[in-house]
Amino acid sequence: MPKSPARTLAPETRFLIGGKLVAGDGDPQPVLNPRTGEIIVKIPEATPKQVDLAIHAAEKAFATWGRTTPGERAGLLLKIADAIDQEAETFGDLECQNTGKPRPVFMADEMPAVSDCFRFYAGAARCLSGPAAGEYMAGYTSMLRRDPVGVVGSIAPWNFPLQMAAWKLAPALAAGNSIVLKASEFTPLTALYLGRILADRLPSGVANIVTGRGPMTGQALISHPLVRMVSLTGSVSTGTQVIAAAAAGLKRTHLELGGKAPVIVFDDADMEEVVPALKKFGYYNGGQDCTAACRVYAGPKIHDDLVSELGKAVKTIRYNKPKDEENDIGPSVTAAQFERVKGFVARARNSKHIKTVAGGSPAGGKGFYFEPTLLAGARQEDEVVQKEVFGPVVSVTKFKTPEEAIRWANDSEYGLSSSVWTKDVSKAMQVAAELRYGCTWINTHLLLVSEMPHGGLKRSGYGKDLSMFSLEEYTVPRHVMVRL
Ligand code: NAD
Repeated sequence: MPKSPARTLAPETRFLIGGKLVAGDGDPQPVLNPRTGEIIVKIPEATPKQVDLAIHAAEKAFATWGRTTPGERAGLLLKIADAIDQEAETFGDLECQNTGKPRPVFMADEMPAVSDCFRFYAGAARCLSGPAAGEYMAGYTSMLRRDPVGVVGSIAPWNFPLQMAAWKLAPALAAGNSIVLKASEFTPLTALYLGRILADRLPSGVANIVTGRGPMTGQALISHPLVRMVSLTGSVSTGTQVIAAAAAGLKRTHLELGGKAPVIVFDDADMEEVVPALKKFGYYNGGQDCTAACRVYAGPKIHDDLVSELGKAVKTIRYNKPKDEENDIGPSVTAAQFERVKGFVARARNSKHIKTVAGGSPAGGKGFYFEPTLLAGARQEDEVVQKEVFGPVVSVTKFKTPEEAIRWANDSEYGLSSSVWTKDVSKAMQVAAELRYGCTWINTHLLLVSEMPHGGLKRSGYGKDLSMFSLEEYTVPRHVMVRL
């Protein structure tokens, strides 16, 4: 890997609009360090007028960009991937300051996935496929095109800011679309820094990056008539607002929404594997992961041991240590999220049947840290089992039969991801077939690869990120027929 250029911690606060880096004209929004609650910088948000300018720049650029060859686009995406790798240290500094993620964890897990996403779509752009051209009606030749959709409006959440930006930008650009990306108003620093890299490498207007609050900047983007597709990763309630705004213009929508992953642990599961895995995958990123292993169903024989061993393990999760490299997880990314987590846990602890095995309280101090929490005895109908907490909180519920475990696992408004833990491969495969989730892991959880789709069912949404499926969603299949 090339040597990293001189590092800077002065955050980029300007937007990329029409190939230029410009300051926001809207209200300044404080961007916080959630480890301390202190303001890093205030960034004026993009006004609806600036969003309109960005969309017009994207529309203009699309006329040319949409006609580039996949090979040309691939070449640029590869250059972007290389530049991201070169600037990895700066991205690490910015992301960890803005989200509180432990830096070594971010650098090991997320940073490589960002450039990999651009590299994957560089290759994928050249491999779109479809039915063979042929004479499906005598005397006529039919062929399939896969053309870009046009201007895409993309909206990212605050939990994996840079990775989500990559998931939105890379497939949309690879397919030949132009894009306006709105980063979360809480965590815009890495997306805005990425704007500098894109400004130097893409024709002006092809990619535009702004930030600002949802009702102001976001709404202007999703309701603009020139935006042909809206891609959101966010909450269910924002997803419904996107659909409402898209309805008038019949825009294509791509929604990656919340999750509440069931984790079915059968009696024959290997405790030595399950306990460390749930310690990791239930609390990863402080539980602020739509696929977090947060809703455990344990078999009748393994239940008590699992609760006791997992409780001990959860108490060893390291957080809020002054030395960042000693932390396993960070704080809640926003103050509002911290308050939500507090509320969920307090209400759960008010139920007499729920036992707090580990944690259960705010960690104290200035940052938005909540203790890693394990709750046992939760019932299927309990709020903490049904609703997405999005914090370091895992519940365990005992099941009597496999049928009951599957029924409870599927009894959720969400359908993003799930996992099954057993030594019996046949049982694992049968349960996987019954689960109504976009992903089922067997004897693992949370792991993603660029080649496989990530996305949900039910109220978790219906878009697919990653893989060829995502690339295809950013294209329109078209039939061209020739009379011979
Ligand atoms: P959120 O819905 O509050 O915000 C997401 C983005 O939408 C932000 O950029 C926000 O400014 C914007 N937004 C809000 N209201 C808007 C509006 N009216 N119009 C346009 N844009 C608007 O979500 P969040 O709190 O940032 O992220 C957490 C949620 O994201 C959780 O529910 C989590 O499960 C989900 N998530 C899902 C995935 C996935 O892949 N399925 C991945 C990460 C996060």
